[in-house]
Amino acid sequence: SLHDTTTLHNGVKMPWFGLGVYKVEDGQEVINSIKSAIKAGYRSIDTAAIYKNEEGVGQAVKEAGIPREQLFITSKVWNSDQGYESTIAAFHESLKKLDLDYLDLYLIHWPVKETYKETWKAMETLYKEGKVKAIGVSNFHIHHLEDLMEEAEIIPMVNQVEYHPRLTQKELLSFCQNNNIQLEAWSPLARGRFFDDPILIELSQKYEKTAAQIILRWDLQTGVVTIPKSVHEHRIIENANIFDFELSNEDIAKIDSLNQNERVGSDPDNFH
Ligand code: NAD
Repeated sequence: SLHDTTTLHNGVKMPWFGLGVYKVEDGQEVINSIKSAIKAGYRSIDTAAIYKNEEGVGQAVKEAGIPREQLFITSKVWNSDQGYESTIAAFHESLKKLDLDYLDLYLIHWPVKETYKETWKAMETLYKEGKVKAIGVSNFHIHHLEDLMEEAEIIPMVNQVEYHPRLTQKELLSFCQNNNIQLEAWSPLARGRFFDDPILIELSQKYEKTAAQIILRWDLQTGVVTIPKSVHEHRIIENANIFDFELSNEDIAKIDSLNQNERVGSDPDNFH
């Protein structure tokens, strides 16, 4: 169900499924999306300082009337705030906007070359102080993870990266699995760009599910946490309706074979 969780390497339970709110406007739009999602059973929300909607996210959490401890709230430190002191400050700014007293997950948004190691030290401090239940990274390639882990005291619990049928990240996925780092998919639907793929259409007909549902189910069955975005209640509900069917191994392989190493966002080696 939507409440199913994966256990991170520090024992924290993270929902397999959540709502992304990138490009969702602060105020009524983000409040309505989150309230629809929580009503539909979502328990996890993915925001970031750079999305500029943390205040609305916090307001939605209050209005939804679900005990705080049943929700899983993620935010991220933006590139220009990286570095030790500035990350600590950015974290407190996010917490204040969200009007929360802790975060469930805090991520380094992108691997800013010059500063990500100092940023990680700040993440470790925040974690040890109990202000965040889990810490992780986003947009880290294997070489970024290896480099970080050389000196890190705490191994990241999560790596959130672009992941969808045209970018299946097989090497990164197995590297993360071998190191107990949970992979999480951003733009899991590739923003709707490939819904007309013939294989997805074929599977859609076979399972009587939409292309979006086929893809999101593939995320879960490949061991990847997923956070599709929608601001429309019917799609918020549709996207979550993936717990009543199972793709065969053969069909998972078919979806895997759609990989073209094709990105809808920036490459983490070249994002400036
Ligand atoms: P997505 O792949 O989730 O696609 C969302 C878009 O797909 C929607 O805007 C809508 O146009 C369409 N859509 C959604 N559900 C649909 C449905 N059922 N039928 C038809 N169309 C549908 O894209 P995203 O928003 O980029 O990614 C999801 C979340 O990942 C973001 O909201 C954000 O939280 C996170 N993210 C993180 C990073 C990062 O750098 N860490 C980058 C991008 C996104």
